[in-house]
Amino acid sequence: MKVARFHAPGDIRIEDAPEPPAGPGELKIRVRNCSTCGTDAKIFRYGHHHIRPPRVMGHEIAGEVVGTGARVQVIAAIPCGTCVECRRGRLTVCPRQESMGYHYDGGFAEYVVVPAKVVAVNGVNAVPDGVGYGEASVAEPLACVLNGQSLAGVGPGDDVVVMGAGPIGCLHVRLARARGASRIFLVDVNAERLAMAAELVRPDAVIDSDAVAQVLKLTGGRGADVVITAAASGAAQEQAVRMAARQGRVSFFGGLPKDDPVIALDANLVHYRELTIVGANGSSPAHNAEALRLVAEGAVVVSDLITHRLPLPRVLDGIDLVSTGKAIKVTIEP
Ligand SMILES: [Zn+2]
Ligand SMILES: [Zn+2]
Repeated sequence: MKVARFHAPGDIRIEDAPEPPAGPGELKIRVRNCSTCGTDAKIFRYGHHHIRPPRVMGHEIAGEVVGTGARVQVIAAIPCGTCVECRRGRLTVCPRQESMGYHYDGGFAEYVVVPAKVVAVNGVNAVPDGVGYGEASVAEPLACVLNGQSLAGVGPGDDVVVMGAGPIGCLHVRLARARGASRIFLVDVNAERLAMAAELVRPDAVIDSDAVAQVLKLTGGRGADVVITAAASGAAQEQAVRMAARQGRVSFFGGLPKDDPVIALDANLVHYRELTIVGANGSSPAHNAEALRLVAEGAVVVSDLITHRLPLPRVLDGIDLVSTGKAIKVTIEP
């Protein structure tokens, strides 16, 4: 079979590999769609401390189980299921969390073997009727977005700012709409990408510069109830805190580069305005199941966010489209 393997930063190769056998408790999947995301672009450029090369990449996986033909979607982040955090239901912060495409070979391949520990934590979800494999693969990033918005308490009546108009930002706009947000403002410094995203997800306003002033203006000086940073930008995080309303919630959804993770924070804004700042670290198996349900019910439409469908040998083109912001969601069809 063909696979896309990471060997070193800047070195991803399309190679022939033997079909992997499934051991006891494991499932072998014929991958139909594995979507790319910003993380893949980051791995391509810098590598990742959890990836010991060579490794088949790809963590947004949907396909059919070999043998039964069952249509399934696979989680990306694998909680251990047994540690203190897992036993308290805090699966997204499991300190022993592993990931498909990092610790285990991923979905940029014709076949992938799902480890027994994924099956054990209910990490293989049935894809509902009417949901395509491409959409099902996007349930994984949507699950992460769902985790972020439930931690930030996005709900009816909220004015929500989403900073970053990439695929994750688009999913945040769609989900905030589904959760009953009042108005949603989409921010990006790349005006071209912002226009492309806005055309699809229809925020109530777009902002491409001077974000803090613009949000204050749009909210009559009050600020936004929820601000979500969907960009690896410390500047965006600093702005997010400054544009939050009293008792507002700020989600540092996107992480920062590991060599540049420190921002300047006016602690008195947090103190006097009673702000809440939350993080978000992937998603739980339950978030994935819920994301699939939201897609199946039409509450969150994702099919139109898939702007490019490419065969496996064009993985690098896909990663390039993602990093240059010329695509929203690129899915690989091995
Ligand atoms: Zn991803
Ligand atoms: Zn755990």
